Amino acid sequence: MKNSNSISQIPHRISQIVIFFFLSVSVLFAKVNERPKLVVAITIDQFPYEYLEKFRPYFGKGGFNLLLKNGANFTNATYKHSINETGPGHASIYSGCYGNKNGIVMNDWFDRKLHRRVNCAEDTSIKNFHSSRIGRSPKNNLAYTVGDMLRLSNNFQSKVIGISMKDRGAIFPAGKFANAAYWIEDSMFTSSNYYMQSLPDWVEKFNARKNIDSYFGKNWNKLLVEKEYKTLCDIDDAKYESDEDGLGLSFPHIIHGKEKTPKTKTYYEAFFTSPFCNDVLLQFAKEAIEQEQLGKRNVTDMLCVSFSANDYVGHNYGPNSQEVMDITVRTDRLLEEFFKYLDKIIGLKNCVITLTADHGVAPIPDYLKSRFTNIEAGKITPKEIRQLSERFLNNTFGTFSDTTHWIDFVVHHNIYISEKACKSKSISVEQAAKVIQDSLLQMKEIVDVFRADELKSGSRQTPFTSKLKNSFFEKRSGDVFFVMKPYYLEDRGSNTTHGAPYNYDAHVPVLFYGKGVMKMESNEDCAPIDIAATLSSLLGIEFPPMSEGRVLEVRSKK
Ligand SMILES: [Zn+2]
Repeated sequence: MKNSNSISQIPHRISQIVIFFFLSVSVLFAKVNERPKLVVAITIDQFPYEYLEKFRPYFGKGGFNLLLKNGANFTNATYKHSINETGPGHASIYSGCYGNKNGIVMNDWFDRKLHRRVNCAEDTSIKNFHSSRIGRSPKNNLAYTVGDMLRLSNNFQSKVIGISMKDRGAIFPAGKFANAAYWIEDSMFTSSNYYMQSLPDWVEKFNARKNIDSYFGKNWNKLLVEKEYKTLCDIDDAKYESDEDGLGLSFPHIIHGKEKTPKTKTYYEAFFTSPFCNDVLLQFAKEAIEQEQLGKRNVTDMLCVSFSANDYVGHNYGPNSQEVMDITVRTDRLLEEFFKYLDKIIGLKNCVITLTADHGVAPIPDYLKSRFTNIEAGKITPKEIRQLSERFLNNTFGTFSDTTHWIDFVVHHNIYISEKACKSKSISVEQAAKVIQDSLLQMKEIVDVFRADELKSGSRQTPFTSKLKNSFFEKRSGDVFFVMKPYYLEDRGSNTTHGAPYNYDAHVPVLFYGKGVMKMESNEDCAPIDIAATLSSLLGIEFPPMSEGRVLEVRSKK
């Protein structure tokens, strides 16, 4: 007869408990060990999803294809905000929310109190190193990021570092608790006293090697054989391409900015508009990993890297150019080099890699017109919108005898009405906004116009309402918002641009790869802001406070 309390059972019990204890501990350790050593969060500045499909035949095995073939690929990820720009894109991905919450509604906006244009990453209380420019910090971004939550999760043991050519591309992905953000000013990588008292020695040494100046006079040649470009792309010397940064219209592009010495603003602009700039960024990223011992410290570290040269090239030559094809294929090779490096020094199996873009891009309107003369496409300058708005208001409410103007500013589809002007005519800003709205709606280029009070109340529902609301932050946004028809652009000096609520600007890659991520492809409707919650979930940390994105099902099932 068996008695569970019998003395003979006790040693067996103890051994069971001991076994259970060791099993529990090993499960616990297994769970801790499941955490990746390094998260590499890659953003490519201006990279529509289409490039992944279009240029895939030219990709190697270890670049984009490493993630496409072995990771989770979301083919239907779109930004659900209307102003698809660099600041809003980078601020939303790792915070998991849009400008209506994080406040980064545009690259820059008109500050009504300061009565001037304000850059999304500027902070007048902060100083950049080696620079006389206004300081940069994440202050204007009200949201926190995955990196912030990672640091908070373990008493700030994790290191989080952001790197980009652009200040906003480095600062916003990394977050407010980041150890550092580094970006390029002219010939040097810099940061600001938001993060540290002075640049680390390794950064100063990297700068002293004059990597950026060393590319002066180099030729940017085509990577692939000539014929490959001809089928997929427009002609190389199309007259509607831009020579703005002194690179000329066709290959080979000589990187000198038409200057005799590298120490000139135009050389640096030419350099930024070349794949060489991405190469230097990768060198810097490797240096950061080695010097900061990222991924080698028994906690999960995070490196956010944003490659900006793709954006500069796209703005000048357009998405249908041979230059964009070339820099995209070169980006593939660059990623392959990066992933091989990660494998060698940390092991890809110990990393989690995410890849997305801050926005896409529109074709150059004149490219479309060169094929279809009568197609509705073109550009409108903010100045034209301003002059038109002034004229509408003058006609309705009368002109001013002094220097008063109706409009303070027009930027990124936002029109800021002068409160002073409205007061002097004893009308409300809403009344003035209504006149602009009614008049702009008559223009052939414009498809919809909203007033701020309509976005606040949600009183007007059109197909654009929800996207515009996500790009509306009362303290920073304008009083009137216009949406142009597809392929009409707000002309801010570059040849083509982005910033519209259309898929060519909003549809971007969302890829996950690495530890704990399964191989899969999904065409479900999702957004780059889902990366924040998904990555937090993979890392076993709290979601960023304002994150509203979903956890995408990427976790491998064991
Ligand atoms: Zn951008």
